[in-house]
Amino acid sequence: MIPASLLKSAFHFGVAYDAGVPVVRITSGKQKLSLQDFVLQNRGTEDGGRGKTEDKPQQQKPVPTKPIYLTFDDGPTAHTGELLDILDKYGARGTFFMLGPNIASYPNAVKRLVQSGNAAGLHGMTHVKSKFYASPASALKEMEQDNAALRSAAGIDTTLIRTPYGSKPYFTEAYRNKMMSAGFHLWDWNVDSEDWKYKTDHNKVIRSVLQQIETVEKQGTVPIVLMHDQPATLKVLPEVLKTLKAEGFTFEVIDGQTTPVNFWHDKR
Ligand SMILES: [Zn+2]
Repeated sequence: MIPASLLKSAFHFGVAYDAGVPVVRITSGKQKLSLQDFVLQNRGTEDGGRGKTEDKPQQQKPVPTKPIYLTFDDGPTAHTGELLDILDKYGARGTFFMLGPNIASYPNAVKRLVQSGNAAGLHGMTHVKSKFYASPASALKEMEQDNAALRSAAGIDTTLIRTPYGSKPYFTEAYRNKMMSAGFHLWDWNVDSEDWKYKTDHNKVIRSVLQQIETVEKQGTVPIVLMHDQPATLKVLPEVLKTLKAEGFTFEVIDGQTTPVNFWHDKR
């Protein structure tokens, strides 16, 4: 028996105890559920639902919740199918910020990614700084045209946007007001794979992305990883997914209800 105070001081664990339930929960401090909810969630699962917990000592295995958002920009492309194959293989999903002209060129890729549980987001039409950021109206127009392309390819709309090259420094308040009053939500990232920069040094990208994810996760922040829908990314993705899966990450997709993460901390 280890005193709870020792657990706390020597090992930096948190200890949750409730006299009403026969559970002491030892945590790493990153738990999301209250002790009551934790007990409710685990009741009936530890014993296979047979309700015979009194027959044997309870073995509470902590259930880690480590969500991660993978995002893929600039597609779809002729390689999106391969990318989706890799995601499928590892039970992973991602959010795709796509360009309107590419959606029109590869509508079947868009249909497949939506049908297989990935999320669609918008990345504009031109990907040209001087055109996209010319005015709040030009930015909004590109996103609306992009959404129209998505609608005709896959029959859906989205409110998720990511602006070309990220939203800083150009996507100032006037731009954001315009976009958000039209119902859009702005997303940047907190892990940059730089897969567009190091297209041949795959190990460098793998090491860097895993290290950044670890850092962000240790800070208690959900990692949002920027990658691109391009051939070089296909070379790094299997190793990255394999490692993340082994580390207990769960691959989530962004939706219109998820609180936006962007460089302006604009949560609209
Ligand atoms: Zn881009």
